[in-house]
Amino acid sequence: MRLILLGPPGAGKGTQATRLAKRFNILHLSTGDMLRAAVAAGTPVGLRVKDVMERGELVSDDIVIDIISDRVDEPDAADGFILDGFPRTVAQAEALSVLLEEKGLTLDCVIAIAVKDEALIERITGRYSCAKCGAGYHDVYHNPKVEGVCDTCGGTEFIRRADDNVETVKSRLLAYHGQTVPLIDHYTLKKLLTNVDGMANIDDITEEIAGVMAGISG
Ligand SMILES: [Zn+2]
Repeated sequence: MRLILLGPPGAGKGTQATRLAKRFNILHLSTGDMLRAAVAAGTPVGLRVKDVMERGELVSDDIVIDIISDRVDEPDAADGFILDGFPRTVAQAEALSVLLEEKGLTLDCVIAIAVKDEALIERITGRYSCAKCGAGYHDVYHNPKVEGVCDTCGGTEFIRRADDNVETVKSRLLAYHGQTVPLIDHYTLKKLLTNVDGMANIDDITEEIAGVMAGISG
């Protein structure tokens, strides 16, 4: 089974992809992880990525497609994969479709996890972590048991990521919607898209996606 997981930053794509890949015994392909792995392994495409990153440039679609292509050829990808973080644009979706076609593979479905912007802003801007041990907390969902004291290490200093502020999150969401709406239309036209309510709790979302996947494989 081969599927794509779409969703805005903060929608929990990574968590869902990890759980579902395990349950269905298929690969979780995160493009970020694949890029890092290719660099670490020193493959020809990894060396190209390293070059690009050292120059401070963005890795091009061609390179990402080459990396996905190499990874999909490996024996452990035979039963399928969940792509997380790619494609982000219609051009990337088209390149992916060409690649799969060349290999005689089909894409079975595209799952779009939908979360309201206000909820994403609350999720992301509420995040903070212990300055000492890195334990993660949230203003609304998960504060330390004793106010101002880290549950894990007893530390009393907490930090927030600079890019987790409202303005930055809003502009990331704006960019996401600009790119993703056409992508969702693209896969809707191909009759591959299923929308999943990302406002439900994490376990319910997993079950809903698992149900869609079971329907396809069954
Ligand atoms: Zn701590």
